[in-house]
Amino acid sequence: MSLADDLYRETILDHYHHPRNQGELVAPTVKSEGVNPLCGDEITVYISVDSNSIADIKLDAHGCSINMASGSMMSEAVKGQSLEQAVKTASIFKNMMLGGSQEVILPEELEDLEALQGVKKYPVRIKCALLPWNTLLEAIEQARSQDGASDNI
Ligand code: ZN
Repeated sequence: MSLADDLYRETILDHYHHPRNQGELVAPTVKSEGVNPLCGDEITVYISVDSNSIADIKLDAHGCSINMASGSMMSEAVKGQSLEQAVKTASIFKNMMLGGSQEVILPEELEDLEALQGVKKYPVRIKCALLPWNTLLEAIEQARSQDGASDNI
């Protein structure tokens, strides 16, 4: 095992044992649920949108270490971002996970997420890492369509 693998493992375990932004938002703008039946991962993503930005985010996640760690890192990465930035962050992450075995260097503010590319060695687990992000993207989609609806009133 290389030093990079050790660091990756440590970051993932830290987020798994101390998941950030866990819980429920009382009055979220939207919530979205995702499941990964292959592994039994379940996640509910709550976001509160203010001025087109993610003012707050909470996750109710149950599942394996990869799913939990990915969700925790995702919540830290996108909290405070505009919806547009959050979609961009999600696509950076998804490109990293789906872009083949080559190691990817991410911008400094997304550094923690690099830890998850160790998972690319286990293709079955990539879905675990993507679940929180895909669920977030659904929530953003919902928030945007609500926003469009309220403009029509
Ligand atoms: Zn899993």
